[in-house]
Amino acid sequence: MDIKLNTPRLIDQFGRTVDYIRLSITDRCDFRCTYCMSEDMTFLPRNEVLSLEECLRIVKVFVRLGVTKVRITGGEPLVRKNALWLFDEIGKLEHLNELVLTTNGSQLEKHTAALKKSGVKRINISLDSLKPEVFKKITRTGNLKQVLAGLQASIKAGFSGIKLNTVLMRGINDDETADLVQFAINNKIDISFIEEMPLGKVNHARESTFVSNADTLKLLSSKYSLLASTETTRGPARYWLVAGTQTKIGFISPHSHNFCESCNRVRITCKGELYLCLGQEDKVDLMPILRANPNSDEPLVEAILKSMSIKPKGHDFDHQRIEPAIVRFMSHTGG
Ligand code: SAM
Ligand code: SF4
Repeated sequence: MDIKLNTPRLIDQFGRTVDYIRLSITDRCDFRCTYCMSEDMTFLPRNEVLSLEECLRIVKVFVRLGVTKVRITGGEPLVRKNALWLFDEIGKLEHLNELVLTTNGSQLEKHTAALKKSGVKRINISLDSLKPEVFKKITRTGNLKQVLAGLQASIKAGFSGIKLNTVLMRGINDDETADLVQFAINNKIDISFIEEMPLGKVNHARESTFVSNADTLKLLSSKYSLLASTETTRGPARYWLVAGTQTKIGFISPHSHNFCESCNRVRITCKGELYLCLGQEDKVDLMPILRANPNSDEPLVEAILKSMSIKPKGHDFDHQRIEPAIVRFMSHTGG
């Protein structure tokens, strides 16, 4: 098949172009955030997880099909052995505009320089609290000091964009909403508030802790002058600039359907499952195709092109449900 480099070839049945992939390179993590994992997680055996070489093969094929942005996520991507090798290799790919990372920040301090060198442009760091004891309660095993050191190292290294990702939970960390925004302003970085999604069976009452972005926006509007930004990533985030600062506040509302019509992304799990929508089960297993064809990428190209015909129109989240709409863990699918 003759595929011209960087020609946008991934167009789904609704005419949306897919040019952004999120690749989870591990389901493992050094934290056990209450909304993401259960305390006693069982992780996948090594041979059921894509090797880093397989991850690279997949990314190369997507880039060949017109993908220009790759986000590496997990689990915690920086706990994967030799993860830096993959960043280096992806960073070298011609026609890729943006290599970005989502991390909990625990391993960031020691890896910032290498990540910068490999071409990572922007980093999202999850931070739900500035209080050590609350941070510990939410992450179960995390150390706030370590994450803040990683954040400061990244700021010093001069990444073009650093953003905090915060999941607010009523009665747990929602009293820190304004403090977290002020922290972002003081550090000249951005912050996004993510509404909790019903993914995975976690031992935590979501219905009573759910905080809507509408409420967060109302609260912050009473403290700051917020200017609506036209910036869009064609995803579930809407941005506001805090007047007189360099800080943008993002609101990620997976429950809203407004963004599905412009959806430009797909997700690949660490098992090589290509999920066409975060909130639906439609997927293609790329691992067997990869392993059955070690010397040819064409079957992979065919499968990815074909997958465009099953990308759903939109998701189906509803936080009122007791049972999660989708039983996949975020750490499996990648955030
Ligand atoms: N370990 C990295 C981290 O925490 O940034 C990357 C993976 S994590 C799954 C990616 C993002 O997903 C994090 O910002 C986390 O807060 C978010 N997340 C995890 N479970 C979630 C859930 N049930 N609802 C909303 N966001 C969730
Ligand atoms: Fe780990 Fe990230 Fe999930 Fe927290 S949100 S448990 S840091 S994968």
